[in-house]
Amino acid sequence: MRQKAARYKAIAIEQVRLIDGTGSVIDRATIVIRGTTIASVGPSRTVVVPPDITRIKGRGLTIIPGLIDCHVHLCLGAEPDVVSTLESEQPAYTLLKAARHARETLEAGITTVRDVGSRDHLIFTLKRAIEAGLQPGPRIIGAGQVLCMIGGHARFIGREVQGAEQVRDAVAAQVAAGAQVIKVIASGGVLTPGTSPDEAQMTVEELRTAVEEAKRLGRPVAAHAHGATGMANAILAGARSIEHATLLDDETADLFEHHAVYMVPTLSALATTAACRRGCGIPDSALDKAKAMTKRHHASFKLARRRGLLIAMGTDAGTPFNHHGDNAQELERMVALGMAPMEAIIASTSGAARLIGAGDRIGSLARGMVADLVVINGDPLAHIDHLRDRNRMLGVMQAGRFVAGPLAQ
Ligand SMILES: [Zn+2]
Repeated sequence: MRQKAARYKAIAIEQVRLIDGTGSVIDRATIVIRGTTIASVGPSRTVVVPPDITRIKGRGLTIIPGLIDCHVHLCLGAEPDVVSTLESEQPAYTLLKAARHARETLEAGITTVRDVGSRDHLIFTLKRAIEAGLQPGPRIIGAGQVLCMIGGHARFIGREVQGAEQVRDAVAAQVAAGAQVIKVIASGGVLTPGTSPDEAQMTVEELRTAVEEAKRLGRPVAAHAHGATGMANAILAGARSIEHATLLDDETADLFEHHAVYMVPTLSALATTAACRRGCGIPDSALDKAKAMTKRHHASFKLARRRGLLIAMGTDAGTPFNHHGDNAQELERMVALGMAPMEAIIASTSGAARLIGAGDRIGSLARGMVADLVVINGDPLAHIDHLRDRNRMLGVMQAGRFVAGPLAQ
């Protein structure tokens, strides 16, 4: 750790356009970073920059908080057939792949991810390696294996359970291994053959038990659900977020609202699969399901916005052709469906941080917050795609250190 500390220095970025992550913009801001945190931030005329500090001229540049992707699978490599790929790999090989994906994610300006399903317990090993400075990567909130019913969706990265007792054991085992969130599968899915997205999976009692046990251990629950019944079951059981929420209706939107549950739409997941033609390598069953649901998914997202539901950004990166490092495509997709760029940025910073229980440390640029930020030569409020343009990415700062981009050199 001594080595790492030596690389920290006090930095001021001056006269920069600052998007703070909560909805405010300061056109000429100065931000001072000391150690791992933000020491001061505000309009340039009000911030005193101490002497003997590295100064970066920010005129013409924009900074935003490091992005937070609430739904990734670092162990999946965006291969056309992720299920058979994973099943053919040795676990150690999968871990090496996940490490590479972690680096690609960080380099794209994603400084934190919630990994909601991985092989065995490898995500916790990767997290430790990143925290020890062995490997570059985003801060990870990991679920480990998902909990699914016997023969259920996502069993290739899951632990199959039946009955309350097995659910309780599985939750406790995930937490003991390092899980900070518990992922349950409340409906069928796209990628697992033989499951249908609109069928509910796991019983209400099992979902309730998962939430109870997770709560007892201080962990929230994220639930995968495409269909309305699966969503309703998970919300009534006490889940904190619904992943995908593809087939939302008015009644289910009421439940989201009433229980203040987050929706993580993962528009990129269906879109990247549905964009493929037969023969691209994605199994036909997955392709057909994705194509059939895309329109409904868009309608669900629009309904959620009309109803003012809580939305946090998540891509499902790792699923077919949904590459790690392309995470900011999700903001483009949300904006294309009517969300204002500022809202998309909030959903990917302070909103996402609130969902993952880290809103007091990350997701906004304010004094005392961890210094996770991205310096961009561009204007994401006018062109949201600037966030995905590597030529515009001048620096990714994680906990006070530039870790990627020209400013890191
Ligand atoms: Zn997923």
